Amino acid sequence: MNLSRYHDIVKEIEPTGARLVAVSKTKPVSDISELYGLGQRLFGENKTQEMCAKYEDLPKDIEWHLVGHLQTNKVKYIAPFVSMIHSVDSIYLLEEIDRQAARHQRIIPCLLQLHIAMEDTKYGLDEKEACEILESGSYKQMKNIELCGLMGIATYTDDEARINREFGGLKAFFDKIKAEHFADKGGFKELSMGMSADYRIALRHGATLIRIGSEIFGTRGS
Ligand SMILES: *Cc1c(COP(=O)(O)O)cnc(C)c1O
Repeated sequence: MNLSRYHDIVKEIEPTGARLVAVSKTKPVSDISELYGLGQRLFGENKTQEMCAKYEDLPKDIEWHLVGHLQTNKVKYIAPFVSMIHSVDSIYLLEEIDRQAARHQRIIPCLLQLHIAMEDTKYGLDEKEACEILESGSYKQMKNIELCGLMGIATYTDDEARINREFGGLKAFFDKIKAEHFADKGGFKELSMGMSADYRIALRHGATLIRIGSEIFGTRGS
């Protein structure tokens, strides 16, 4: 744990109005408790099982954000309590989130994950696929999800110009979707981008949620 980096990051993002998602995947409950003691309430996990176990063990006013790839058959485990799902990458997943949220009489905030990186291994929708979801009859009928923005993961590279292009492109697409699909109803307001290595660049492009793990909790064994 690097608590001085935590304090620095909190101070750094404060003037931007963005919120910090402390990505605690693989880290023990004791580390999360320590940050909780400093006032951190927003934590991110990428595995449903790990998130459920931590949810059980920790105070119930923690907001749990699912940031990693989510399999349709695992939605049911987190539906009772998850605060936001950042990684929606298909209409089928969104349908299942809507169904499970309804079972618990909840509305689950969701972000569409856009594929913005060069690597083709990363999950996410292209712009056309995202538009198809928003225009689908199925999406329009959903009552138990709220689409509140977009998420993206930039290429892992030293090439700042490339990261700037990727985050800039995601912000431009966010503005377009907001104007075309949410002008009347509002609520489309979250842009989840930026991790330990590139959060400063993301903040310059208007990120509202930054997802930071290793800079705060230390590197993860792989
Ligand atoms: C692990 C992870 C992060 C945090 O990554 P760091 O480089 O450790 O800050 C952010 N977003 C997603 C989707 C992740 O899986």
